[in-house]
Amino acid sequence: MASDCLFCRIVSGSIDARIVHQDDQVVAFHDISPQAPTHVLICPRQHLATLNEVTAAHEGLMGHVVRTAADLAKTLGIAESGYRLVANCQSGAGQSVFHIHFHLLGGRTFIWPPG
Ligand code: AMP
Ligand code: ZN
Repeated sequence: MASDCLFCRIVSGSIDARIVHQDDQVVAFHDISPQAPTHVLICPRQHLATLNEVTAAHEGLMGHVVRTAADLAKTLGIAESGYRLVANCQSGAGQSVFHIHFHLLGGRTFIWPPG
């Protein structure tokens, strides 16, 4: 836990969020500034600043993130219409909170390539 990290504080419960799922490895909550009708952030409890810190030791956790995303997509009703699972790495890619998280976006049409 990094005390100056916003998402560590959400994961620990010291800052409120609209939580949709939590377990021993991840916490998922609604994005405060949604970019789609469904916009949930899936956040590992472990503080890793960027995807560049992911190693072989995190393979189980990363698999759990993806399975959680697929489960949440079903629960939230976007599995059949389609969704994006996005992780921005570093500010050049749009990362603004330096605790890794995966955006689960759905409920509208998406274009490709992304901006
Ligand atoms: P990124 O820019 O990829 O690092 O994503 C960070 C996301 O966190 C943005 O979509 C923000 O809208 C979202 N965000 C920032 N503060 C909060 C908060 N307190 N609760 C929920 N989402 C937040
Ligand atoms: Zn953190």
